[in-house]
Order: sequence, then C-alpha cells, then structure tokens
Amino acid sequence: MSKQVPYKTFLSEGEIPQAWYNVRADMKTDHRPIINPATGKPATLSDLEPVFCTELAKQELNNTDRFIPIPDEILSFYKMYRPSPLVRAYFLEKALDTPAKIYYKYEGGNTSGSHKLNSAIAQAYYAKEQGLKGVTTETGAGQWGTALAMACGYFDLECKVFMVKVSAAQKPYRKAIMETYGATVTPSPSTETEAGRKILADDPECSGSLGTAISEAVECALRGDSYRYVLGSVLNQVVLHQSLIGLESKAAMEKIDEYPDIVIGCAGGGSNLGGLMSAFMADKLTGKQAPYFIAVEPASCPSMTRGKFAYDYCDTGEVTPMAMMYTLGHAFIPPSNHAGGLRFHGMSPILSQLYHDGHLDEARSVTQNQIFEAATLFAKVEGLLPAPESAHAIRVAIDEALKCKETGEEKTILFGLTGTGYFDLSAYEAYRLGELEDIPPTDEDLARGFATIPEQLTL
Ligand SMILES: *Cc1c(COP(=O)(O)O)cnc(C)c1O
Repeated sequence: MSKQVPYKTFLSEGEIPQAWYNVRADMKTDHRPIINPATGKPATLSDLEPVFCTELAKQELNNTDRFIPIPDEILSFYKMYRPSPLVRAYFLEKALDTPAKIYYKYEGGNTSGSHKLNSAIAQAYYAKEQGLKGVTTETGAGQWGTALAMACGYFDLECKVFMVKVSAAQKPYRKAIMETYGATVTPSPSTETEAGRKILADDPECSGSLGTAISEAVECALRGDSYRYVLGSVLNQVVLHQSLIGLESKAAMEKIDEYPDIVIGCAGGGSNLGGLMSAFMADKLTGKQAPYFIAVEPASCPSMTRGKFAYDYCDTGEVTPMAMMYTLGHAFIPPSNHAGGLRFHGMSPILSQLYHDGHLDEARSVTQNQIFEAATLFAKVEGLLPAPESAHAIRVAIDEALKCKETGEEKTILFGLTGTGYFDLSAYEAYRLGELEDIPPTDEDLARGFATIPEQLTL
C-alpha cells in the first residue's frame, strides 16, 4: 500500500517561482527565427516594436537566458490566485478502477477561469511600464479576452478585444464579463478593419477564427503609437510566462515525493502544455529523468497530427510575422467546434520544434464526443466542471489510466486542468442530447489549407 498523499498539495505563497523558465535556452537546436514577411529576413527587435511592447519583444527573441526574473508587481498579482493546487484525482482513479496515480494542476481558480491570466497580467504590466494607452487582442472562446480584460482593468489600461464571431454568438456572457472589467468587444470578422472587410468580402458568412481575429487586432494596434498587440498563446513570451505552471507542479510533486511518468496537456496554441512541461522538459533537455509528454488536440483542428512543419503566417490576413511551426495553412478555418480555445491553424514554434526534435513525444487527436464523455465523468466524480479544452487532456489521461488497468502498471500521470466550463453549457447540453457532430476535415479540406502555406524560405 503506497503512502497516502493529500487530495490537494499547495505550495506556500513564498514558494511561487520568482523567475520564469525559458526552455529555449536548453534546446540544443537551430532555433528558427520568426521572419518579417516584408524583408524575408529574421525579425529584429525594431521590426517587432511597432506591434509588440518592447520588453515582450525582447522576451520573444531571447534564446539564451534560462531564467527571466518576474517583476514584483506581477508577483504580487500572482499571489491573489496562486499558487494553484496540484490535485490527486483519487475519485477519478476509483471510478476507473486503475492502479495509475492521476494528478492534475488546476488553473481554473480565478475569475477568468483559465491559465491565461498568468500571461495576461505580465503583458499588461509591460504595456503599462512602457506608458502605452492600451492593448488590442483577439479571443476565441473568450478566456483570453477575459483574462486580459482583468489584467488591463487592474493596471487601468484600455483593452480592445476582437472575439471570434462564432464564439461571441455561443457565449454572450463572456462579453459581459470583459465589459465589466472595462474592455470593448467586437465580433470578428468585422467591418472595423481592412483585414475584416476583406475576409467578409470573400465570405460574408465567415464565422471567424483566431486567425481572422488576430489580423484585425494587429491592424488596429498599428493604427496609433499608443497601442500594442498582445497575444494569449502561440508566442514564445506566452510559453515563457506559463512556465510558472510547470515550475509549481514540479515543486509540489517534490513535496509529496512524486515525479510523473506521463505529462498530458491540451494543445491549442501550445501555451499551457508548454508551461506544464517546462520544468520537466528542463530535466529531459539536461539529460536527467524525463516523463513521456503527450499533446492532445481536437480532431477538427489537427495541426500537429496532420499538419506540416513549415514557415507560415500566424494569422489569416498575413499581417503577422511568419513562424516555423506545425500548421494547417493560415487560411485554414476549422469546422465549428466547442473547444474554441483550440481552433488555431498553427502551433507554438517552441512546441513544434520540441515535437519535431522528438522531445515532445506524442501528439494525439480526439473528437468532441470523446472529450465530453470524459468531461462528464470528471465533473461527476471530481466535482469540477472542466472547460472543453481541458477535457482533451482529461480524455487522454483517462485513456492512459485505463491502459494501466490492463497492464497493471502503477504509472504516475500528470495533466493540466486549464479551466472551467461554465460558459460551455450549451456544448454540454448538445452532448447530452446526442447533437454534437464530429466531422473532421477531409484530406481535401486540409489540402486547401496547405496550399496557403507560403513558398518555403531558404535563409
Ligand atoms: C486557451 C485555452 C486553452 C488552449 O490554449 P493553449 O495556448 O494551447 O494552452 C486550453 N484551455 C483553456 C481553458 C483555454 O482557455
């Protein structure tokens, strides 16, 4: 009988990490730079400065510093809702009758309901420090927009959010929270920008995607000198800020003498998984012990499992730099599904490179019906209603635990529970009524997306 660990393991406030971990410093690979499409050359700090806050642009380009200190103002904000708990999913283990030990790191315990606040507060802080009036951004399911609205509200910054049209229709109350914190919210594609008008001219019924909303937000930021664009995932700086999740997870596991055999995260733009993996990936890259890493994505938007590793734009409107990543093509618009936070055509360049180099071991795709089955069981036995995005990780954690049941192995599984599903109840209802459709893109659909990947650059 193994020794009983508590249901929840907390770090103390003083044990919140004082620095973010920059995994790129440990990656022995040729970091492929982001490319300025105007010059075809690696983007420099001065190329990025009109779009991004200067300090964040520096973080974006930093391949060398292993640790970047967290400013005090950000640390004190973190103390409002961190450290987040590491939970031993005893009730789920029991329901599955598995010998596996299942842990999850819960990031939904703040008002925005997801891990995105970890990066939002950092980005708002640097914008404030630079003396800007405000920031623009896109949001898919609304979690990022809400997190950024909270962060901007805290620092008294203007916040303009372009929200993917289909999500805005599915989740009207997301808009209400963002506005409560003082943000303005525009469904995208909109007629407010050149990029939005062009997309609507081509397809007046366009339901929007993260790619379309990014184009609009970047264009809007470039209009004046007092605004910059901020992004809730994909970018290196966001993975950097989210390293907090993995640093805390590893420290909490050490307290209870545990180390994961498998680490699982859902992957939309790659930030929560990049963050959760961080401290364990550091172990792997420096030749120590290492878990098996699994990225889980929706079958409807399979950038890692079916995409190409290539330079591509991060947005539909071709206004962002190009990044080397797994991509379905920047004009690929995934079929509507209920995990809005996972509907991005590409994948974080860091995760892409780690996957390409074999350090991120596996990518797996799952369908909506599979994830809601897992989410419903989890909600019943663990008492937490997960976001559909998070349910991708739950699904695979359950599948791995069931494998252990067959083999009798006592593996230790750690997954990221990134957020809560209170704004996704129509999706839960559709699942319950058997109305959820799973129509993964056909090879022809993907071919149309791939055709929009730019000619490969030779640098
Ligand atoms: C945005 C979001 C995700 C996916 O984004 P990543 O950058 O891949 O982490 C996952 N879960 C929740 C709850 C989200 O809001």
